[in-house]
Amino acid sequence: MTKITPQPGIMDIALYQGGTAHIEGVSNVVKLSSNENPFGPCEAAIKAFEGAGRSLHRYPSADHGELRGAIGEVYGLNPEQIICGAGSDEIIAFLCQAYAGPGDEVIHTEHGFAMYAISARAAGATPVEVREQSRVTDVDAILAACTQRTKLVFIANPNNPTGTMIAQSEVERLAQGIPEQAILVLDGAYAEYVEEYDGGASLVTARENVVMTRTFSKIYGLGGLRVGWGYAPQAIIDVLNRIRGPFNLSEAGLAAATAAVRDQAYVTQCRDANAKWRDWLAHALAQHGVPSDTSLANFILARFGSEEEAGACDSYLQSQGLIVRRVSGYKLPNALRITVGDEASCRQVAHAVGQFKGGAR
Ligand SMILES: *Cc1c(COP(=O)(O)O)cnc(C)c1O
Repeated sequence: MTKITPQPGIMDIALYQGGTAHIEGVSNVVKLSSNENPFGPCEAAIKAFEGAGRSLHRYPSADHGELRGAIGEVYGLNPEQIICGAGSDEIIAFLCQAYAGPGDEVIHTEHGFAMYAISARAAGATPVEVREQSRVTDVDAILAACTQRTKLVFIANPNNPTGTMIAQSEVERLAQGIPEQAILVLDGAYAEYVEEYDGGASLVTARENVVMTRTFSKIYGLGGLRVGWGYAPQAIIDVLNRIRGPFNLSEAGLAAATAAVRDQAYVTQCRDANAKWRDWLAHALAQHGVPSDTSLANFILARFGSEEEAGACDSYLQSQGLIVRRVSGYKLPNALRITVGDEASCRQVAHAVGQFKGGAR
């Protein structure tokens, strides 16, 4: 018997399942499985990335000053209260590592993002799953699940993979009601897709127990570069910076993200296109007998009559070169999550679902 064993909890982690990117034997796939921006990043971000190629021998900035300054300017936040990570995934990991350990509980919701439980377990803490109310975050259920051991409460608003959102007043009630030793983390990965929404930033500013996470992977179209950020009370930022590796972001990533955040005209353009085709797609699917909740994000959670039907539709879509996401791992076996692509992809996927429902298999 080997004496070499990992920390308790590590072997309980189920490997993260990413969105499929390839179909065997099909070269021209349409990938609608990872909520990526179908238009990619803005031109300025690509230019900045290419420019960084000239100085790859230099270590990157360790304090991310320029990017934090740009984010602060654009979002109207104090740069001192911003921390950048290798995707918001890393900010989630920092929070778990810094605030939760063996014996502590980390709350996430029934259909919540997989990284919350993974990072909680990696820190030796215990993830606690709280049911949702018809695929919507249930504040009362979360408050009822809080104990003296609760250290972190994660909600995504809008949530992935449901696409639903709770009102600011509900988020406030949650922040107000959690135990005094707990932090509420508002994951705003899709906040830019919601018009007139600050992702919960004002709540962070007003309170001591709320943190917001954001990402460059979704509307900014930079998932491949791994850049995310968090906005938190100064005391929490000071804690997180102690465990952050000084060179956790590459110079190319920093440069591209800084350029991307400064191009808000592009963000608006992507938000508008997404809203238009998301609503078109939801309507088209509903007409084919495939309902979905009103989504505030850049994807639709399409519901089928059964797990078998969802699986069969997924297979049919694949045969047509369309990759969407099965979400059985998120306790939604009857559903498929479909990223809102460009016009052509939306038309293609609606057409294929129509054919499937009409009997093509
Ligand atoms: C995509 C996504 C993220 C972003 O992860 P990154 O590490 O920033 O790429 C975070 N939270 C949720 C809920 C997501 O869907």
